[in-house]
Amino acid sequence: MKRILILGGTTEARQLAGKLAIRHDVTLSLAGRTENPVAQGVPVRTGGFGGAEGLAHYLRGNRVDLLIDATHPYAAQISANAAKAARLANVPAIALRRPAWVQQPGDRWTPVGSAAEAAGLLGPRPRKIFLALGRQELAPFEAVPQHTYLIRSVDPVEPPLAVPGATYILARGPFSEAGDRALLETHGIDAIVSKNSGGEATYGKIAAARALGIEAFLIQRPPLPDMPSGAGVEEVLRLADQALAPWAGLEKRGV
Ligand code: NAP
Repeated sequence: MKRILILGGTTEARQLAGKLAIRHDVTLSLAGRTENPVAQGVPVRTGGFGGAEGLAHYLRGNRVDLLIDATHPYAAQISANAAKAARLANVPAIALRRPAWVQQPGDRWTPVGSAAEAAGLLGPRPRKIFLALGRQELAPFEAVPQHTYLIRSVDPVEPPLAVPGATYILARGPFSEAGDRALLETHGIDAIVSKNSGGEATYGKIAAARALGIEAFLIQRPPLPDMPSGAGVEEVLRLADQALAPWAGLEKRGV
């Protein structure tokens, strides 16, 4: 039985944890961003480690055999910390890197560097905007209060945005294309702002926007550190097996 630390907060991290826990001692780490995270099915620790050094200290102190970075593609800080901590603590590390969505015929995508850039590009004319963003990423839209916003988040947006027109929906994915299409139509939405999260669970709004000819401002992905990685759960399970095999690392150690 090997000790595995999974940096999670994603569906894939939860699925990986469940499969690896059959044969290994698995701990899942959450940042603690959501108030009531879904049950993870394995022991969970919550909250930051205190940077890369703090994570390295945790890896050494808990005799972790393998670190798996299965965090969200936009959680760039923890991914950078994971790569550095693995080096500092000399622990093998692998990652699940969920592929980005690729533009399809009919998509009206405008790539942007940040939520603030998207807010600046909405223009002076009042529009109806669906903000499919984390509640920590909404502040830039207060600078353009002429628009009406539809905001969907897992936890309530507290305090609410300082704009006159905002509707809040509390919901946790997965979201279907049909459901998101109905949402966009009901609220008369003419643009969405979203991260390019990849995966199926939140693709509904992208497909619905395409079907309705609605513009999508897509925040581009941050760069992530290079490490052995798989695009999905099964691929990462194979990498984990390789990394934990008795002969793994022998070459690196010069044996
Ligand atoms: P981040 O900016 O990469 O991380 C900031 C700090 O939070 C890290 O330095 C670390 O603190 C702590 N942290 C992050 N993930 C952790 C984990 N799994 N276990 C323990 N500590 C963790 O990541 P973020 O603030 O969580 O999110 C950044 C972006 O990713 C946002 O755009 C957010 O919306 C998106 N995101 C989306 C989802 C989703 O499911 N939709 C989930 C997560 C993040 P220390 O340095 O103290 O260790």
